[in-house]
Amino acid sequence: MSTIFSQIVAGDIPARVVYEDETTFAFLDANPLAPGHTLVIPRDEYERLNDVPDDVAADLYATIHRLVPVVEDAVDADATTVAFNNGEAAGQEVPHVHCHIVPRFDGDGGGPIHAVAGETPDLEDDELDEIAAAIDERV
Ligand code: AMP
Repeated sequence: MSTIFSQIVAGDIPARVVYEDETTFAFLDANPLAPGHTLVIPRDEYERLNDVPDDVAADLYATIHRLVPVVEDAVDADATTVAFNNGEAAGQEVPHVHCHIVPRFDGDGGGPIHAVAGETPDLEDDELDEIAAAIDERV
């Protein structure tokens, strides 16, 4: 069964499409957190960022890079929060990779990306060293 976003790409479900090309697609979020809240997706269905092939990932970033200033300008935003909920534990509900471009306005009462975490850990230097090494050796 295809995701709701694939059905939007196919034209089976209506959406306010703002951009499309061969590999990527963008439309307004149906439940906007702010005016201009836009979702950018790969046309093809990949559940998580790590499922996206390198070439599609490059195209996806290019579309995000292109749309961020356009969306800001269209709604006269002061800034944007640009983020992926990558996996269920991070709040991803639609299993089709999507980038949220959320316009932000001075004094809008929202928080920074730092507000997404629960209780923050108090890590010792050696733990930080271990984590950095674990990431570095896997890159
Ligand atoms: P996430 O929690 O990151 O998976 O976000 C999914 C987003 O998709 C939510 O912000 C929804 O409002 C949005 N959404 C769900 N269905 C539709 C739809 N049919 N058209 C546009 N946006 C949608």
